[in-house]
Amino acid sequence: MSNQQVRVRFAPSPTGGLHLGGVRTVLFNYLFAKHHKGSFVLRIEDTDQNRYVEGAEEYILDCLKWCGLHPDESPVVGGPFAPYRQSERKALYREYAERLVAQGHAYYAFDTPAELEQKRKDIPNFQYGHTYRNEMRNSLSLSEHEVDALLDKGEPHVVRIKMPVEETVNFNDMIRGHVSFDTNLVDDKVLLKADGMPTYHLAVVVDDFLMKITHAFRGEEWLPSAPVHLLLWEYLGWKEQMPQWAHLPLILKPDGHGKLSKRDGARLGFPVYAMNWTDPKTGELTPGFKELGFLPEAFLNLLAMLGWNDGTDQEIFSLDELIEKFSIERISKAGAKFDFEKAKWYNAEWIKRSSAESLKPHVEAVLQDKGLTIAEDKFLLKVIDLIKDRVTLLPDFYQQAGYFFQVPGEYDLNAIKPKWTDAKTDFFNELVSVFEASATWEPAELETTFKALTEQRGFKIGDVMLPFRIMLVGGKFGPHVFDIAALLGKQETINRIKIALQAFTA
Ligand code: GLU
Repeated sequence: MSNQQVRVRFAPSPTGGLHLGGVRTVLFNYLFAKHHKGSFVLRIEDTDQNRYVEGAEEYILDCLKWCGLHPDESPVVGGPFAPYRQSERKALYREYAERLVAQGHAYYAFDTPAELEQKRKDIPNFQYGHTYRNEMRNSLSLSEHEVDALLDKGEPHVVRIKMPVEETVNFNDMIRGHVSFDTNLVDDKVLLKADGMPTYHLAVVVDDFLMKITHAFRGEEWLPSAPVHLLLWEYLGWKEQMPQWAHLPLILKPDGHGKLSKRDGARLGFPVYAMNWTDPKTGELTPGFKELGFLPEAFLNLLAMLGWNDGTDQEIFSLDELIEKFSIERISKAGAKFDFEKAKWYNAEWIKRSSAESLKPHVEAVLQDKGLTIAEDKFLLKVIDLIKDRVTLLPDFYQQAGYFFQVPGEYDLNAIKPKWTDAKTDFFNELVSVFEASATWEPAELETTFKALTEQRGFKIGDVMLPFRIMLVGGKFGPHVFDIAALLGKQETINRIKIALQAFTA
């Protein structure tokens, strides 16, 4: 790599929820920039007023914040190339469109929407390009005089690129290697719209140039647009400064057939967006990884592994480690199948590896959401340490640990009643007396005491251990029962035995 400072950008259009493929694009841009000590720019591409969706920009910013992928330059933090919202840069694009027209690489087109529609009806698969452009109303087909008259009159018009005929456009993609396009197959894309706004094609080139972007990672779906962009870089005389492109392979449906879509998520019951997204027009809520209970560390880790690996079997990476190890050479060319079970595995691993302290705010939120009160921080931290190996999604902390904060609301009586005997009632009453008399309250001692009494009373350990567990937690789950009792404390354990005995013998 040359000494030039690396500058990458994520350039979303604020049109709705942020797909996990979008976050992976952010991540790869970010990892590349940070690996090379460069800058990560967030640019909002909002020039298509028809697709603009209220709240979508804030939502994207929130998603980046949740993931901890903080832009060095953005509409919020500013930066040397502000503004970073294309709608606020509207005035500067026309100059470049006019320059292209003057050079003969673009032209004015006056066709009305009705005329275009008629053409599409008359000609199947109509493309506004070299085959038909001379029969349309534009500055290529009309005389100079006619064009001037229309412009003077303020006739609505767009500016279109004039795609060259029978040329091949080539470039070297950092992931896909050599790519070439036949210009005959590409239509004359609109560059500047009738409302004076640039289209994506013009704005992306102008802004990548003005913002000194050196490398651009984007989804593979943008590959067909690349020839238009390449020609614009060339026509505007900026070819030397063109960023190096990396078109990222798609994230595929679990069966590998086609791109993973929002609908697949709904159909198969997993999220596809980073965070919950509510469509402001329809009110429709599309679920997100965050609200389902994913840790951002796990989310980033699993996204990184969709199409990248470090060449070893290692699967768990922190963001710092990803920054250190990231290399384009190890991004796969093939699409990556999304596997939700594997995604959950990453989350469980991250929960296991996280400290109780770092999990605390998440667990607090889960428990408080269920109306539980957390008396003491120290107690909560111990609970988290005891439980975290059993949790896959953060809300599981409620099912797995809720009983530490409230007496079980119900008991698995089916597991108890058929085998209950008076002798068992006596055993637990006696256990209460033994516990009351005990001076210490440690798991190992509790176990010894419990087992001694079991033997004395002629029970098998299985006969009384399961009831004891159900007394404390309500069901057949949870960690080692004496760890639970130790953490609940002497008084609470005794209380729970007494309360449960009533339910078991009723
Ligand atoms: N605005 C485009 C999008 O919404 C950006 C594509 C690119 O990165 O060039 O994805």
